[in-house]
Amino acid sequence: THQIHIIGGGLAGSEAAWQLANAGVKVRLSEMRGSGAMTPAHQTDHLAELVCSNSFRSDDAERNAVGLLHAEMRALGSLIMAKGDEHKVPAGSALAVDRDGFSEGVTAALAAHPNIEIVRERVDALPDGPAIIATGPLTAEGLATAIGAQTGEDSLAFFDAIAPIVHRDSIDMDICWFQSRWNKGEGHDYINCPMDKEQYLAFHQALLDGEKGEFKEWEKDTPYFEGCMPIEVMAERGVDTLRYGPMKPVGLDDPRTGRWPYAVVQLRQDNALGTLWNIVGFQTKLKYADQVRVFRMIPGLENAEFARLGGLHRNTFIQSPKLLDGELRLKSRPNIRFAGQITGCEGYVESSAVGLLAGRFAAAELLGQTIAPPPVETALGALLGHITGGAEVESYQPMNVNFGLFPPIEGRTKKADRKLLYTARAREAFAEWMPA
Ligand code: FAD
Repeated sequence: THQIHIIGGGLAGSEAAWQLANAGVKVRLSEMRGSGAMTPAHQTDHLAELVCSNSFRSDDAERNAVGLLHAEMRALGSLIMAKGDEHKVPAGSALAVDRDGFSEGVTAALAAHPNIEIVRERVDALPDGPAIIATGPLTAEGLATAIGAQTGEDSLAFFDAIAPIVHRDSIDMDICWFQSRWNKGEGHDYINCPMDKEQYLAFHQALLDGEKGEFKEWEKDTPYFEGCMPIEVMAERGVDTLRYGPMKPVGLDDPRTGRWPYAVVQLRQDNALGTLWNIVGFQTKLKYADQVRVFRMIPGLENAEFARLGGLHRNTFIQSPKLLDGELRLKSRPNIRFAGQITGCEGYVESSAVGLLAGRFAAAELLGQTIAPPPVETALGALLGHITGGAEVESYQPMNVNFGLFPPIEGRTKKADRKLLYTARAREAFAEWMPA
């Protein structure tokens, strides 16, 4: 008999199972693939299948946040990282893997573990006993409905409608200014980028001309255009549609002219630290290269650096900052934890990392031990902070790990040095925290 039930044998569920089993906890791991069920993106029955690219992104632990996350996970005995390293293929400074070798390796390691029972079944209800839900961005419908019933309909999203997110220190504040429309609220909640008529018309044309990504077949007939229409679709409706929508200038006085500009692009604070700001209403299907080119036409964003670019995808995820406690437990039902992309992280590595944390937290609880959560200066801690507390709840959208999620480095530093400072500080904090 098992002590914990993990639902979903993807990246997160596999890592969580490994951590729990190694701590001595008996795991039942339920995976619906292999029982006749499939997701629209998976193609095999392997656990931890990579549904798209075969890359775990940068392996540079000195200059890159995901590389740092790799290093922390390796130190904690991550199965996903061990198998990734074992099945590595040449990819410069990135870690890319042989996808079949990798997922076969993960499957074999879990199948061989005496504390793990892999069951090929689809689960449609929340379990009564201790459990980890790791069913990913394409969670099957029955379970998604059960999660919605437990958390409240508004707490479960089926799509991400992501507006680009900009690093605050790359915004030119000689051009932009802080103000909320009609000075409501605190009066300075938004960063405003002004456009004159000529700039607006050029920007509008660039949106029309930009290259758009295709909707996947299974994304097409889902009604996600209501509250989250892509900016370029709005632009197609008419030259002034944006000026009466997300780019309307009313109630915003440009301090340099004392008047309302012709059009305004607004950014809203995206994390509690104030290091990341999202462009309000700018969810988009533009290709990444065109997003960078077109959005840098916005006055004040000429040198913008993007923590993430916009997108629209099918993606099941919960409002974690509201629903989960600091140990990834559902506040309304604390015997259930969530892990992986369904918590609102993004990416193979991040999903695995959250699986690792959920597994370790659950193991400690079941064994009557306590573990301190990873410090916010570490990559694991920064990612956990984004999920369980850092993000503004209304705008909560999935995100990759990035230095914008870390507490800022105090004082003036050269940009090139800053990354090294982040990772050096992280290594120190991690070494102090690292369980013996
Ligand atoms: P998954 O790996 O999807 O695992 C969830 C598992 O749960 C699946 O095996 C599924 O079959 C199972 N399951 C679902 N519902 C049930 C149920 N009711 N009962 C039992 N089992 C169930 N990330 C990247 O880093 N790079 C990419 O290139 C990339 N491309 C992507 C492309 C697509 C189309 C999608 C949807 C996502 C992509 N992602 C990518 C994000 C990627 O999905 C996640 O990074 C990662 O797979 C999520 O890990 P996970 O463990 O949370 O979910």
